[in-house]
Amino acid sequence: MIHLKTAEEIQFMRESARILAQAHGEVARLIKPGIKTKELDRRAEEFIRDSGGVPSFLNYNGFPSSLCISVNETVVHGFPGEYELKDGDIVSIDCGVKYKGYHSDSAYTYPLEGVREEVLNLLQRTYDSLYKGIEQARAGNRIGDVSYAIQSYVEQFGYGVVRELVGHGVGKSLHEDPEVPNYGKRGKGPKIVAGMVFAIEPMINLGTQKVIQERDGWTIRTSDRKPSAHFEHTVAVHEDRTEILTSHEEIEKNYSYKWRNRSR
Ligand code: MG
Ligand code: MG
Repeated sequence: MIHLKTAEEIQFMRESARILAQAHGEVARLIKPGIKTKELDRRAEEFIRDSGGVPSFLNYNGFPSSLCISVNETVVHGFPGEYELKDGDIVSIDCGVKYKGYHSDSAYTYPLEGVREEVLNLLQRTYDSLYKGIEQARAGNRIGDVSYAIQSYVEQFGYGVVRELVGHGVGKSLHEDPEVPNYGKRGKGPKIVAGMVFAIEPMINLGTQKVIQERDGWTIRTSDRKPSAHFEHTVAVHEDRTEILTSHEEIEKNYSYKWRNRSR
């Protein structure tokens, strides 16, 4: 069942997403070689709580942290820990905030310096596919239009689209209906109407689409151990436009390596 949001609820979600964008920006300042991923998690939790929010992921079905931190071949749901980032890594930071009873959810994959060209291209194109999906997320379209836009864009480069994990409605619960797959057919799936709020989150692999769940019960990695990228926004559909509630602006302002839209 899809819960449509009132204007007041969307306002709460906007505020939630604002805290989330700033939390991401705080993490962005710390991303550099030698930082332990658990230090990123600690900063995110501290910032969210200081802002009056609650980290959505902490204790969600037993998840132990405020961030999902997924390095290189890890697709999503990696645990923060003792691992130290190093040059040549890519690292996906996925975070959620609950504020005034409403969640927001967004993710960004950073390259550290020294990431090879084909992996930078994977990141740029996964980023671009998120916006191709958002373009289709408008009242009157169907979820399949979003899915198709993402899939058709990235598959032209030979990338694998993860099937097992999908975008989702967001609201009082972190994961609500509808599911928003990153693959699908135009004109299929639930109709998109004003009041829907959902997360679009392409998870795109350099190699095979196949993934494996590690024995910790959470971590998802590519089965060929090639890198995987993940970008996510939470969007709200209005009659005449779709609003991106979350933001990557604080990230891109605060992260020292300006990797996007470089000349190729
Ligand atoms: Mg997320
Ligand atoms: Mg999500």
